[in-house]
Amino acid sequence: MPDGSPPSDRTLRDADALAAAGLVADRAAAAAVAARYAVAITPAMRALIERPDDPIGLQFIPDPAELVTAPHERADPIADDALSPVKGIVHRYPDRALLKPLLVCPVYCRFCFRRAHVGPDGGVLTEAELEAALDWLAAHPAIREVILSGGDPFVLAPRRLAGLLDRLTAIPHIELLRIHTRVPVADPPKVTEALAGALETNKPLWLVVHANHASEFTPAARAALRRVQARGVPVLGQSVLLRGVNDSAEALEALFRAMLAARVKPYYLHQLDPAPGTARFHVPIEQGRRLLAALRGRVTGLAWPTYVLDIPGGHGKVPLGPNYVDGATVRDPWGGTHSL
Ligand code: SF4
Repeated sequence: MPDGSPPSDRTLRDADALAAAGLVADRAAAAAVAARYAVAITPAMRALIERPDDPIGLQFIPDPAELVTAPHERADPIADDALSPVKGIVHRYPDRALLKPLLVCPVYCRFCFRRAHVGPDGGVLTEAELEAALDWLAAHPAIREVILSGGDPFVLAPRRLAGLLDRLTAIPHIELLRIHTRVPVADPPKVTEALAGALETNKPLWLVVHANHASEFTPAARAALRRVQARGVPVLGQSVLLRGVNDSAEALEALFRAMLAARVKPYYLHQLDPAPGTARFHVPIEQGRRLLAALRGRVTGLAWPTYVLDIPGGHGKVPLGPNYVDGATVRDPWGGTHSL
């Protein structure tokens, strides 16, 4: 179902390409990582990398540390597989389901919680598998919302995406659609007018764009988002709290301000899921809470996402705070306490 073309002709996809671009010094080490976890760096992301260890380089350049799996890390940290009634569907909450039509992405993030599954050969649902997934959704009237994820649904050809959305909106009990994508920032030219047009559905559709650093909101990314927004599609932002990428109040403030400037409402800031070989990105929850607290009163409430943990094992997503109420006292944004 992908349209057959890579996100861009010049996407870097292997150790040789990374070495030729000057992004890795040890070609063999990069090749060993790439043999286990997919690699792709689009021209848009490559253009933002000034050093391999800067906030964009860290997100996409393979590192030998990825081959070390910590004891608490798991290949399927939030139990997508265990909660999959049919191939391509994940059913974790009563009223909604994930539909993963493909496991292909424009870029491969080194911290991805689905890193053991995504990749250029990671699979696309066959026509029969997609029909079975749609049949499952049609047979479960409690499902009100379908979240298209993957992989990245924006890698689908516009015609295929439009066809899939038509099938979903034709199911009477499905009231709401959501698409999770990295394409508008990672490969903006891919968001053509045809792709944006595919999002015009007769039921509410929300787009959730994944971005982790303010610099990802380039003029091209903002233009791509405008093409979507011009079709009446509201856009939310989701980010992962990542060491070396956005683990400071300044970096988070810049990220969320960049989202708002692009008319994107920051929705979730995710605690890192314990996927294999991702320990170098871990930020402790207490630090995350302090960072969110530092933003309170400093940025508009519109710029404040919910800081969330997907409880490992598939037990659902919960907010992590920070908390302001302690018994009969409440703390203000500047640290003062007051009686309730
Ligand atoms: S784009 Fe999303 S699904 Fe794909 S590698 Fe990055 S985080 Fe994972």
